Amino acid sequence: MTDTLTGLAGASEEQVRRDDRAHVFHSWSAQGLIDPLPIASAEGSYFTDYNGNRYLDFSSQLVNVNIGYQHPKLVAAIQEQAARLTTVSPAFANDARSEAARLIAEIAPGDLNMVFFTNGGAEANENALRMARLHTGRHKVLAAYRSYHGATAGAIALTGDPRRWPSEPGMPGVVRYWGPYPYRSAFHATSEAEESERALQHLRDVIMVEGPQTVAAVILETVVGTNGILVPPPGYLQGVREICDEFGIVMIADEVMAGFGRCGEWFAVDHWGVTPDLITFAKGVNSGYVPLGGVVISDRIAATFSERPYPGGLTYSGHPLACASAVASIEIFREEGIVEHARALGEEVIGPELRALAERHPSVGDVRGLGVFWALELVRDRDTREPLVPFNAAGADAAPMNEFAAACKQRGLWPFTHFNRTHVVPPCTTTADEVREGIAILDEALAVADRHTT
Ligand code: PLP
Repeated sequence: MTDTLTGLAGASEEQVRRDDRAHVFHSWSAQGLIDPLPIASAEGSYFTDYNGNRYLDFSSQLVNVNIGYQHPKLVAAIQEQAARLTTVSPAFANDARSEAARLIAEIAPGDLNMVFFTNGGAEANENALRMARLHTGRHKVLAAYRSYHGATAGAIALTGDPRRWPSEPGMPGVVRYWGPYPYRSAFHATSEAEESERALQHLRDVIMVEGPQTVAAVILETVVGTNGILVPPPGYLQGVREICDEFGIVMIADEVMAGFGRCGEWFAVDHWGVTPDLITFAKGVNSGYVPLGGVVISDRIAATFSERPYPGGLTYSGHPLACASAVASIEIFREEGIVEHARALGEEVIGPELRALAERHPSVGDVRGLGVFWALELVRDRDTREPLVPFNAAGADAAPMNEFAAACKQRGLWPFTHFNRTHVVPPCTTTADEVREGIAILDEALAVADRHTT
């Protein structure tokens, strides 16, 4: 297609690019070295640029658009709320906010019955940590290597990957531990059972040397997201729950990425029947149609603040537009069976098709995931498991992954690549045929990665 599309107020692609380059300061980027693609429109699992090129989105815009783009009922709910009431501060009650909280409590496990709303994931983790510290009267927090918890001061200090480095020294009281990762075990485990057992023993050891009476919380991503879709081996989360109970430590499950259907359950912890004390969420709660995040709080922790004020808040906490969109989103998920669809897609299509790719491509070292939350880990050598690019590669070192991503984009697939992995994270509403279309493109693009194997 060669038709030139126009966007907001008829802006041309050239105008968007010019203003963007001059005035938009982009996240995580060297401003002079990037050239972000202007998106003109989107629908379902696809977005379209200003030249009419359509991309199947295997990234869900930072693993976010769980419900797909421009769901008409969700758009209508926002329009209706906007026409009715657009702003109510947290000092008042509001029907959109109370209904969103009730619905979230309904789908959350166990006694997680209250919701503190934020504008995104990082703020949710900041507040979860504050609640845990005040609830326990302790200050330390155990946070995993290979984790991402957000970019605000506390959340980046909790983060266990190189994104934290430029912000160091961070927050006092953060203690690091290794979570399970069977493919590259920190514990030299040779089976999932061994990985789970050793990771739990390690966590217990860290708590003991830190002093359990000083540890307020253990925070983990239920299924680790941007650090590689690390699905916890059987028994691990149950074991963390038991250790936290034994020492009176608050268990915080960060489900900013893994929650709201992404893993084929409302919350990823549902796979293992574990109820954390706090769950943080954002992204999939309303697919980012309006910024929203929050903390779902257990009765026990909420009780700490029943007679004593909670010292924290945000002007836009529980914003009516965001909450109305969360209500509509949860209703649509229920009506359309999206959680069940996500689970079936993982079990019947994505998992089997990605494993078939691994058979054909020597560059695929590992395939892992569940629901609509998968990754292929790419390697130079399957026997040594040497990553396709060096850890934290940039510039020329990252070339093999960049070539792979470019090959996907040329064929109409927008991938989500990070370090030596490509994540397969389309909207949860993507059809089986669309997934197959995307995996057929991955199949062709992996030939590029295969050329770098030894
Ligand atoms: N936690 C996890 C697991 C995430 O993946 C992210 C973002 O990707 C965050 C927290 C931070 O969320 P936000 O960018 O909305 O602050």
